[in-house]
Order: sequence, then C-alpha cells, then structure tokens
Amino acid sequence: MLYTEKLLITAGGKISCPRCQALSKRTKLQCGRPSLKGKQVCDFHGGKSTGPRTAEGKERSRQAHIKSGLYTKESRLRDSSASLTLAQLEDMMHVLNMTTAQRTRGPKPLNYKRLTTLDDVRDVIISTVILG
Ligand SMILES: [Zn+2]
Repeated sequence: MLYTEKLLITAGGKISCPRCQALSKRTKLQCGRPSLKGKQVCDFHGGKSTGPRTAEGKERSRQAHIKSGLYTKESRLRDSSASLTLAQLEDMMHVLNMTTAQRTRGPKPLNYKRLTTLDDVRDVIISTVILG
C-alpha cells in the first residue's frame, strides 16, 4: 500500500493544509498541491467535479457523451436484436439440417435461447414472422 502525506506544510512551516491525495499515473508520486476545502483532492485532480446530481443534469450528461451516434443505447439494442435474428436463423438451419457448418463462436446476443427442436423453430417463426 502506498503511503500518502495527509498534510502539506509550506511557507517555512507556517502554513499547513490538507494535501491532494491523487497519485501521478506516470511517476506514482503524490500530487504536491493543497486539496480543496472539504475534499481529498485538488481542483486539477477532480476536486471541483461533483458530477451531475439532478435527473435533468444526468440526462444532459448522458446526451453529451454521444461522440458519433454509432453506439447509442438504442443503436446497441437494435444491433443486438439483429444479431438475435441471425443467431436464431443459424439455429433453425441446424435444426432443419440445412447446414453442417460450424456454429458462430463468441458471446450470444441479448435474450438468446438456443433452438434445439422443431417446436422451438415453430414458436420463433410464429412469434416473429406471424405475430411480430
Ligand atoms: Zn492534485
């Protein structure tokens, strides 16, 4: 465990104040600045930040973090839904003996449940093609 100085003594020992508890990522040395009043760190190391508090502020922050629009919550759900359709189609092909290809590796999409019987295939077709 790293030891950090709690107090910063300056002006020839005349002034002592709480010292910033942040450690440098590069040198692993403790920050030499005084911490802000009531905080553990200086303003440079996030002492001023409190993050959004209100629901409105949190929503604004959530909106502001969109960088490209490619990975919004909605787009990820849409992509996951498309992946689910593909995974189900692959399962159907295996159940119906239409292919002997290897199954797709990796994590499965949200709400994925492997189709193993003809009844499973029929249920999916009814729920997605006919009802959905
Ligand atoms: Zn600092």
